[in-house]
Amino acid sequence: MHIEYVIKYSNRKTFSITVERDRQVVVHSPKNLSEEKIKQLVDSKRELIQQKLNHVQKYPTNISAKEFVSGESLMFLGKSYQLLVVEAEVDGIQFNKEFKISKNDQSVANELFKKWYKKRALEIILPLANEYAENLGVKFSECKISEMKYRWGSCTTKNNINFNWRIIKAPLFVIKYIIVHELIHLIEANHTATFWNILSIQVPDYQRAKDWLKNNGHLLEVDF
Ligand SMILES: [Zn+2]
Repeated sequence: MHIEYVIKYSNRKTFSITVERDRQVVVHSPKNLSEEKIKQLVDSKRELIQQKLNHVQKYPTNISAKEFVSGESLMFLGKSYQLLVVEAEVDGIQFNKEFKISKNDQSVANELFKKWYKKRALEIILPLANEYAENLGVKFSECKISEMKYRWGSCTTKNNINFNWRIIKAPLFVIKYIIVHELIHLIEANHTATFWNILSIQVPDYQRAKDWLKNNGHLLEVDF
């Protein structure tokens, strides 16, 4: 497959390739390299570039932040729920078909919600990660919910799996896809045919999840 890229020459001595947020491939090159040589280098990294381009991450964001006033809606597990700000005291965040917070907490709503989402994320993701890890016959050391910005999940060489807390706003079938995707990376580092084969066995409708992320990923990229 042909890879489009732009070349940025500089005084640096090293050659590197980055995939930008808009998926543009940028080649950073020393001035003395010929275009032919650069093409060869890009070709040699083709698989890695393709992997970065395909990976579940990085969507442009253009949505204003919440003010946490009554009538706003917040996403949770793929659905939108209305926020109600009440005069009465509420212990943090109440959730029952709608979100309820006290007017007194409005100024700290951002932190309250982040904490609430992170807690729910761990409660929902950890049991699923355990279940799928067993199905796949893989072992992970730690499962963390973290504050990553432009990716939905990642795995480390120490067999840890990390998930962006914001994925808890997505429908369950999308969350499952992201979990299984990272778990399979523990046994198959690249997006090879084997990778997608294993994935399709665990998550037969994974394409639907990929499409959802493609169309709605920007909703996850903002905090709320
Ligand atoms: Zn991947």
